[in-house]
Amino acid sequence: MTETDKVTDGQVISMDYTLKVDGETVDSSEGQEPIEFIQGTGNIIPGLERELYGMAVGDSKDVVVSAEDGYGKVDDEAYMDVPRNQFPADIPMEVGTQLELHDREGHPMHARIEQVGEESVRLDFNHPLAGKELHFAVKIAGLRAATAEELDHGHVHSADHQHG
Ligand code: ZN
Repeated sequence: MTETDKVTDGQVISMDYTLKVDGETVDSSEGQEPIEFIQGTGNIIPGLERELYGMAVGDSKDVVVSAEDGYGKVDDEAYMDVPRNQFPADIPMEVGTQLELHDREGHPMHARIEQVGEESVRLDFNHPLAGKELHFAVKIAGLRAATAEELDHGHVHSADHQHG
């Protein structure tokens, strides 16, 4: 067995995974194709990427990632009170409603309704998994060297993602 048979930087990893938070599955590749990413490029969260080095195809591992190494701590500044009359009528004014907003430059921003008041609504711009410990179960489904072009782009080129 050579070093290329094990996860190392610059390899394209195919990986099956299940992510549990507070005992509930929040994300999984089950019933779908494994995810693909280039190891060492920060395509996946750092606390998980770090634990994959040295794994071989077929290896499984349970990885617990702290909030700090996952989606970050809850940011107390990431809340905003917005007058109710600024929301379109078709948006349900309920705690937990997910919104996609745009900042001044038109970049998408995700928020959740945190609190509904008489006059205003409090939005939470934290990532939904901020502050959460992440429990991953992963299995390496495939490994190959990334092409020079993939390394240059920093992402995987697959059958459904090819470009000039
Ligand atoms: Zn590309």
